[in-house]
Amino acid sequence: MPPAPETLDGLDCAAILTWLQERDEAALDALWARADEVRRAHVGDAVHLRGLIEISNYCVRHCAYCGIAACAGPLPRYRMTRDEILACARKGRDLGFGTIVLQGGEDPDLTGPFVADVVRGITRETGAAVTLSLGERSDADLRAWRDAGANRYLLRFETTDPELYRRIHPDPPGTVSDRLAQLVRMREMGYEIGTGVMVGIPGQTWDSLANDIWTFRDYDMDMIGIGPYLPSPRTPLAGIFPAADRLDLFAFTLGQAISHEIERLFAGDFALGAVLDAVASLAADNAGRVAEGWLESQPAAVAAGSRRAFLYSPGYCGWHISGQETLFAALRPEAIGIRLNESFLMTPLKSISGVLVLAPAASHRIAATYPFCAQCQSPACRERIPVETVP
Ligand code: SF4
Repeated sequence: MPPAPETLDGLDCAAILTWLQERDEAALDALWARADEVRRAHVGDAVHLRGLIEISNYCVRHCAYCGIAACAGPLPRYRMTRDEILACARKGRDLGFGTIVLQGGEDPDLTGPFVADVVRGITRETGAAVTLSLGERSDADLRAWRDAGANRYLLRFETTDPELYRRIHPDPPGTVSDRLAQLVRMREMGYEIGTGVMVGIPGQTWDSLANDIWTFRDYDMDMIGIGPYLPSPRTPLAGIFPAADRLDLFAFTLGQAISHEIERLFAGDFALGAVLDAVASLAADNAGRVAEGWLESQPAAVAAGSRRAFLYSPGYCGWHISGQETLFAALRPEAIGIRLNESFLMTPLKSISGVLVLAPAASHRIAATYPFCAQCQSPACRERIPVETVP
């Protein structure tokens, strides 16, 4: 076990990786104590409060986990006026806040001149420092806001793994997100810079996290925030599950023999292999349909009336594919020969798993306004219960 480090300068990426995976309580206590000493030496014991004003919950981005993303389902949206923001800032000053933070989604209607005017108003009327957290913006806007008196800017780069970043933060059409580059440019403009990452993004590795911490050192950030990955509960399933009369976990498989036969045919007779592959996929899906029909025919379902049974699987409808892990822990489908690999895919390939949900028909209806719906090529979940058939 390495000794608790004096500074990050004494660590390389490999040592950070070792510390991230350290489980020895005594070693961790030494690390926490060292961290506490550094904290006390640099910022003391005072707690500094910030007055944070959420000035808009409009956003043009489609981040996979975010409750205010552009297509995060039906949700009341608001954008504060200049007068409302200034009134809040004055109240913050009266309550003793020395810093006012203006935070919002990436909202183009929070224009450069509008925000600059608000920043000028706050600094003139309250004398408070102003921190902005308004996402990725043009250099012209950032410069104007700095000139208007903004002191700090918060922009988390979330992860240094570009693939992981793109998965949770898809770029708007025609643009490429580069938050680290924006952080560097903002520092040149004279901002103090706050950034950070998320921990627990599905697919994130210890190496990736170690690299994130290494990057903090390289970029010499002024403030760092590290928070858990907490996907918004605004998914269709969050509304469907509580409405259920009955939930049944399931896993079905056609077995390994058919996968071997498909592989064999692909090598010699591609067309026949493709046909068998398609038929096997249909058969696996049909096993699910049979289960749905069986559940709907149960006496309790018939007696309740207007009940529909549908299956939901990890990887669909906002249920992240990593949900397979929890499902497998509860269901143990290894007993019928189904295994999970590191990417949460099942072997044999022609297997399906998930939860069968018996619920009032209307509760299965899925709006097309969830973030993942924008990227989904299949309208199946919406077509299976058309709006006009819902009683
Ligand atoms: S940019 Fe921020 S507010 Fe907008 S969707 Fe992404 S996480 Fe949410």
